[in-house]
Amino acid sequence: GATIGILGGGQLGRMLAVAASRLGLRCHIFEPGANPPAEDVAHAVTRAAYEDDAALRAFASSVDVVTYEFENIPTSALDVIEAIVPIRPGRSALSTSQDRLTEKDFLTSLGLKTAPYADITDLASLHAALADFATPGILKTRRFGYDGKGQARIMTPDQAPQAFEDMAGAPALLEGFIDFTAEISVIAARGLDGSVACFDPGENVHDDGILRTTTVPAGLPAALRTDAMLLAARVLNALDYVGVLGVELFVTPGGLVVNEIAPRVHNSGHWTQNGCTIDQFEQHIRAIAGWPLGDGQRHANVRMENLIGDDMARLPSLAATPGAALHLYGKSETRPGRKMAHVNHVTPLT
Ligand code: ATP
Ligand code: MG
Ligand code: MG
Repeated sequence: GATIGILGGGQLGRMLAVAASRLGLRCHIFEPGANPPAEDVAHAVTRAAYEDDAALRAFASSVDVVTYEFENIPTSALDVIEAIVPIRPGRSALSTSQDRLTEKDFLTSLGLKTAPYADITDLASLHAALADFATPGILKTRRFGYDGKGQARIMTPDQAPQAFEDMAGAPALLEGFIDFTAEISVIAARGLDGSVACFDPGENVHDDGILRTTTVPAGLPAALRTDAMLLAARVLNALDYVGVLGVELFVTPGGLVVNEIAPRVHNSGHWTQNGCTIDQFEQHIRAIAGWPLGDGQRHANVRMENLIGDDMARLPSLAATPGAALHLYGKSETRPGRKMAHVNHVTPLT
């Protein structure tokens, strides 16, 4: 059978490898860090830095296609790999989503709504943008942010200097604050043949910038549910995308506003593991391996709950809870804010 190369050995890489294994495929993980969660379930692991061209070449030569579980892969590493083997999703999806400014420019070029945004190069441009949006704002690093890290809320202009200083010189973007009624996300996939399949939008609750729960069905008017799915399909087609994509959206009285896109399987898609015949991980493997996509049909209502840090103390009680499907990442060390596991609370559709 074919071998899939995965850049990144975290929980997403682990769950991709499990899905690949069910399809008779092998996975080779490339991960610089120690004790990657994916190593327990992978066929091979390369522990090397993204600057190690020889290790990258050996990795790329051992696989049939390369995918990734996070978007901040150095361009130089991608160049080395792509000379040997295809990368899916492709480079344009990565370069678009690696930088919040490029991402917002791309989304607005498709006619999609985003928060008002401005490139921040110095304190003067920050003050100008705050005055321009006339709302509270969120200053975000353009690159490398996740789980709300690298963000500072600016409620009043006098907070601007501190927020700017907190960026420590990293390129940053100011977003106007969106007064949303809910957050939802669409997990969608596009196959090698250009076919598109969407999972049902889920409703997301964040705490301190980090995802706590995703619930399907989302409490959403039917028209917005359709809008969300069509919007995701437009993004997929515009990027000539192959694989699974996550689109995070704000629901507002004026319609849907795109927060960000993630060119990979997504935490808010974990409910599909117990809500769909083909889950997001298998869907991604199918897409990048050139298989037909599953249809995304949902056979249960699901509430996905992340188990973060000390939430792991609830494991014994959750393990005894009817309808609670546990997914542990095999991380030995618990840290505050660290995603350790998730649980899908499942109610079958009757
Ligand atoms: P992820 O782990 O999803 O990649 P991230 O670090 O990229 O997170 P964002 O998705 O930009 O962070 O923001 C995290 C959360 O902060 C959002 O889900 C939302 O709850 C809130 N948020 C971000 N931007 C805005 C905004 N412009 N207006 C209102 N709330 C926002
Ligand atoms: Mg993000
Ligand atoms: Mg986000």
